[in-house]
Amino acid sequence: MIRYDLHLHSDRSDGEHPPDEVLRRCARGGLDVVAITDHDIVPAFEPGLRNVEGRDIRVIAALEASGVHDGAELHFLIYFPGPVPSDFALFSRRQVEARVERYDAAAGKLGLPLADESARSGQRALTRHHLARALIAAGRAKHIHDAFARFVGTGCGNVPPFTVTAGEVIDAARQSGGLVSWAHPGRDQVDRWLAQLVALGLQGVEGIRPSLTSRDRRVYRDAARRHGLFLTGGSDWHGWHDLDPGLFAVERDSIASFADLLAD
Ligand SMILES: [Zn+2]
Ligand SMILES: [Zn+2]
Repeated sequence: MIRYDLHLHSDRSDGEHPPDEVLRRCARGGLDVVAITDHDIVPAFEPGLRNVEGRDIRVIAALEASGVHDGAELHFLIYFPGPVPSDFALFSRRQVEARVERYDAAAGKLGLPLADESARSGQRALTRHHLARALIAAGRAKHIHDAFARFVGTGCGNVPPFTVTAGEVIDAARQSGGLVSWAHPGRDQVDRWLAQLVALGLQGVEGIRPSLTSRDRRVYRDAARRHGLFLTGGSDWHGWHDLDPGLFAVERDSIASFADLLAD
């Protein structure tokens, strides 16, 4: 049985641990194929097969890109069968820079320190979560939920919205040979937007996730079949809690059409 987790985060964006530590935990968790999908930033390491703590793990080059559609900020998982092509790396670099500007605009409004050098030099991508942590560090919020509710949530108006559209993200990915799956859509979002996103070039939907019931999974599977999409699956692990990768895994059979496209 080949065990996949195609949605994990590291401290290159809002995850807790460096990529190497994420991979070590994946190895200990018995995963075979993994993708670190940080927000808008491409991985720092080469993809391919590697031995981690005595276990062979295949690492897929991937990221989770944000794009606006119909006024909503949607997330797209983009997977590359090989290394990330330079065209797409440039696109990603611009998104990381836009995130610095967005962070600084919010930090200025909220009286927080501006983005640090590692973000400015493109080594990590800043998110709302980073603003929330900065608010906690400054004693302005009690915990992450508090920070989101009062300062950095979408309704608070302190963080400028993204400007790149879902269509632009999908286009950039497809032109570079990326495979695009809609990350964690809600069932109502599927009803509202799936057909439109397919028309924009969307190829897959993340329909296997820890929070979904078997009935939910059937809904996504049926929607994927109707639109000729592949299914992907992953934990969206950030390392914020005690649970480790590998407790949740996706078997190859349930994502076979996607796995076939990734094959060398
Ligand atoms: Zn997401
Ligand atoms: Zn994610």
